[in-house]
Order: sequence, then C-alpha cells, then structure tokens
Amino acid sequence: MFQAFLIKYGEIGVKGKNRYVFEDALISRMKQVLSTVDGTFKISKEQGRIYVETEGVFDYEETVAALQRVFGIVGICPVVLAEDRGYEALSQDVMDYMHRMYEGVTKTFKVHTRRANKRYPLDSMEVNARLGGRILEEFPGLTVDVHHPDIMLHVELRSQICIYSEVIPGPGGMPLGTNGRSMLLLSGGIDSPVAGYMVAKRGVMIDAVYFHAPPYTSERAKEKVVDLARKVARYTGHICLHVINFTDIQMYIYDQCPHDELTIIMRRYMMRIAQQIAADTGCLALVTGESIGQVASQTVPSLAATNDVCTLPVFRPLIAFDKEDIVTIAKKIDTYEISILPYEDCCTTFVAKHPVTKPQVERIRRSEQALSEKIEDMVEEALRTREVIDIE
Ligand code: ATP
Ligand code: MG
Repeated sequence: MFQAFLIKYGEIGVKGKNRYVFEDALISRMKQVLSTVDGTFKISKEQGRIYVETEGVFDYEETVAALQRVFGIVGICPVVLAEDRGYEALSQDVMDYMHRMYEGVTKTFKVHTRRANKRYPLDSMEVNARLGGRILEEFPGLTVDVHHPDIMLHVELRSQICIYSEVIPGPGGMPLGTNGRSMLLLSGGIDSPVAGYMVAKRGVMIDAVYFHAPPYTSERAKEKVVDLARKVARYTGHICLHVINFTDIQMYIYDQCPHDELTIIMRRYMMRIAQQIAADTGCLALVTGESIGQVASQTVPSLAATNDVCTLPVFRPLIAFDKEDIVTIAKKIDTYEISILPYEDCCTTFVAKHPVTKPQVERIRRSEQALSEKIEDMVEEALRTREVIDIE
C-alpha cells in the first residue's frame, strides 16, 4: 500500500545554519541502514523534509525496523503517493486510503492539508472542508475533533500528492557523526552496551575496548563481547573493537598491591590504556557503564579514585540509573539476552573478598608505587599486541 516514507526529525530542526550538516548526516546514516534491507530506496530532501521513496517490491517491516535504528529520526510516516490529477481524483485517492486504513472503526479525525504547491487551485482550508465532509458521509464511525483527533489525516499538495496519517516513533536523538567519537569500555555485562548506545544516540561515533585475561577469561567470553558489539553496531554503525590482553598486568598488580585495592588499581589501568588507544584513534572521551553504588568499585569514593587517572572526559550515561531501568533499555536494544550469558569477565577472576568501598586516592597512588617501571613496559606491550576487530 505504501510507496514512500516521510521522515520527521526533531532536535536537528533547531540548529540554524548547521541544519544542513545534520540533515546530511541523517541521510547518510539512513542510506547505510537501508543498504541492508531488501528493496531499492531513494532518499530526497525537499523543503525541510526528508522522504524515502521505494521502487518495486520492498520489505516494509524491515524498512521500518531499520529506520527505527537511525538516531535523529523522531517519526516515520508511511505515505501513499499519487499524481496530481485534479481535485476529484485526489478526493477519491483519499477515500481509498481511508477505507484501507480505517474501515469500520469508531474514532475522531481531522484533515490537515499543506499546500506546498502554491498553484494548487483550491486553498488548504477548502480542501480540509471538502475532504472532511466526504469522510463524514462515507464513514459512519468517524466524527470530527479539531483539537485532539485520534486520526490526523495529512494531505500534502506538492508536485505529487502525499497522504498519511500514521506516525511510527523513531529513536530520537541526534544523527551519528555530528558529535565526534568516543571510546567505550565494553565488557560482557548488561551496562556497558547500554552506555554505548546512549552516548551514540547523541550523535557520537563509538569505538570500543575490551580487556581480556586469558586463560582466566575464556575465548567464549571474548566472543560474547564481539556479539554485544555487533548488536550495538546496529545502532552506532561501524565499531573498531580493540581487544587488550590484560593478563600480565592483572597478575603483576595482584602480586604487588594490597588485595582489597586490586579492583580499583586494575580499573585505573583500564582507564589509562583506554586513554592511550583513544589518543591514537581520534576519540575525545571515554564511555563506561558505571552507575553509583552498583558494586564496590562504583561507590562515589571508588569512582573518584578511578577517575583520578583520567585526563579525557569520561561519560557515564548510566550514573544515576537503577538497574531495572538499564535492563529495560538492554532489552529494547536486544543486548540483554547476550549479556546474561554466564561467562566470567576479567574482574570476577581477580576480585578480593572484601574490596575497599572507600578508597583514598593518596593511598591508592602509594600502593601503585610498588609497581616498578616494569608496568609501563607491560602497558606498552599490551597496546602493541592488541587485536583489532572490525564490527560492521
Ligand atoms: P557491565 O555490566 O557493563 O559489565 P558491571 O556492573 O559489571 O558493568 P564493572 O565490572 O565494575 O561493572 O565495570 C564497570 C565498567 O567498566 C563497565 O560498565 C565497563 O564500561 C568497564 N569494564 C569493566 N570490565 C571491563 C572489561 N573487561 N573490558 C572493558 N571494559 C570493562
Ligand atoms: Mg562487568
């Protein structure tokens, strides 16, 4: 029934002169996701609106699902297009549309005509009135409500006639690529994939780093992270996943430092390494899935002690979220089922029985002095031997 979609976009409408940059980023991302869908699509920008026109057969459900993963889109309107063959033909096309969509339903409606073609012989008020009158005659269940209609029937008079009434919600946010790039610390848990999704939703491109500790963490644990990255990449586009072998560093910290401070010191090294990769790859910030109080390493003193080594901004979009709310998003973006698979991550292997919950930065710094320059070489070695996986 539908040959086109009208795309509604939100915040990017308010960006003044930069508006075209945002629209172009949106269109380029739409092209990317639609290239994975069966069908031929043409995307066009016309008078501040973006249309997706289809040619021949296409998979409607897949098309909508793909567009629902494009940040910046707030609404997807399936549209019926018709040639302008005069008012009588238009009126008939609109009735056909209404019969297919709303036969036998009891609802209120309003007709909203937009006359983009300024040479159209009738003005928009007149088109509203005439179409409204005919709908009332042909549909006994429909009544007019001009303030809060259930059905808002849009009729746009342009070079073609465009008819729609349905708005399928998009994800909102801002188009990818309009806000630089950040490095996500991606573990196999529930939180970090959600954190990556949330930051990407603000238009930020994402690369990721995973700290792997073989043989304490299995190959399967790494595959799980790759699978999670793939799920996240459905929204964020290409992700460069850096896998760091963290075993020697972890063992060395384990040997040299007080065990109740292990997690904090390990986390400080993760941040340091992530920052170095970020510097190499043009990432201007780090992203983590930390949330206040979730575990011992995420109390405010622990977060402060970890953050002590950070020179880049660290984005923690989940910082004040309850687990329940994080899980809701994880389910929505389809990472939850993978995240709950029971493969150990490198932190669980080396956790102390009673980790500090109120670490003092000064003490942690002193403890780290037990690590000789050897640690620098280990960090360098870990960076040099990292595996880089392209996630499409
Ligand atoms: P998640 O569900 O994201 O694993 P978590 O509740 O298990 O979080 P922690 O293990 O304390 O929390 O990790 C906090 C954050 O540190 C994670 O959200 C992630 O950003 C980062 N992180 C933890 N472990 C790793 C790892 N092995 N590789 C990369 N990043 C990690
Ligand atoms: Mg974790």
